[in-house]
Amino acid sequence: MCWHVLGAGSLGSLWATRLARAGLPVRLILRDDARLAAYNTQAGLALDEKGQRQTFAILAQTVSADEPIQRLLVACKAYDAERAVAAIAPRLSDKADVLLLQNGLGSQDAVAAMIPHARCIFVSSTEGAYRDAHWSVVFAGQGFNWLGDTRRGAAPAWLSELERAGIPHQWTPDILERLWRKLALNCAINPLTVLHQCPNGELQAHAQEVTALCVELGHVLQRCGQPGAAEGLLDQVQQVIAATAANYSSMYQDVAQGRRTEIRYLLGHVCAAAAALDCPTPKLNQLRLRLIEHLSARGLPSD
Ligand code: NAP
Repeated sequence: MCWHVLGAGSLGSLWATRLARAGLPVRLILRDDARLAAYNTQAGLALDEKGQRQTFAILAQTVSADEPIQRLLVACKAYDAERAVAAIAPRLSDKADVLLLQNGLGSQDAVAAMIPHARCIFVSSTEGAYRDAHWSVVFAGQGFNWLGDTRRGAAPAWLSELERAGIPHQWTPDILERLWRKLALNCAINPLTVLHQCPNGELQAHAQEVTALCVELGHVLQRCGQPGAAEGLLDQVQQVIAATAANYSSMYQDVAQGRRTEIRYLLGHVCAAAAALDCPTPKLNQLRLRLIEHLSARGLPSD
């Protein structure tokens, strides 16, 4: 069974190259003919892991190819996922498996609602990768992938292919709890690093602000029926800040490089969920408005 990978960016390339390295059939799906022509001038997709570079001659196609898709890995940003999947939806077989790698929450439900005949599998990834050139990805951070579906279904048999490809993973019945927890950690740290223009560690100087955000995040998580994601949140936020003190958050890096952020699916999602549940979150709302102002001043989308 072929792995179709939609979006040959950082994470899509990291998955595609590892699957190809294990001898599994992989196809890249690129957005248009121009991207396909550019890719076809190359020898393939390169993976740099621990300083070792290897290129894989993975076949690519555009969204408009007619090959049916049984297993799709959606590796676009959250704000692109719905549109990208809409374009490919007619190619999905009945009972196709669609893995959604997007950070935050909101995009997964939007995609799932569009393709009710498919089985959507949500992935929460802590692996890190970035592109150092076109069609070349650097595996920058070891991590883990949690997979699960919201219907609490059984683990699919193809997980053994991830094992074979050396992609660290585990099937979980609580994927939403994982995604909410990661979302909460992100909301407590990333926007502040953008507003204070600092690496994670400098948030130790803003401990009161971080604590107040964690209190509100805890309330929202409880109200959303995710008490497990709320448990020990402040402690973990403090641990992450200390353990990654020298690092710049992904949102900081996006803004510094003039790239669109996924704010709508992170802080935006929490604030919207809180409003829908009449859960007061003045600090989070204020943080969101400050972040929107900061992004707008730099000409970046605030949704
Ligand atoms: P990325 O490097 O920007 O890659 C996204 C890719 O999607 C780009 O190659 C883009 O194509 C492609 N794309 C967008 N719309 C498309 C369409 N309609 N058809 C085909 N391709 C399309 O993003 P990323 O860093 O891999 O992140 C993907 C998701 O994973 C995000 O939600 C992110 O938060 C999450 N994540 C990333 C990491 C990481 O370390 N990178 C870690 C954990 C989670 P073009 O190149 O043509 O623009």
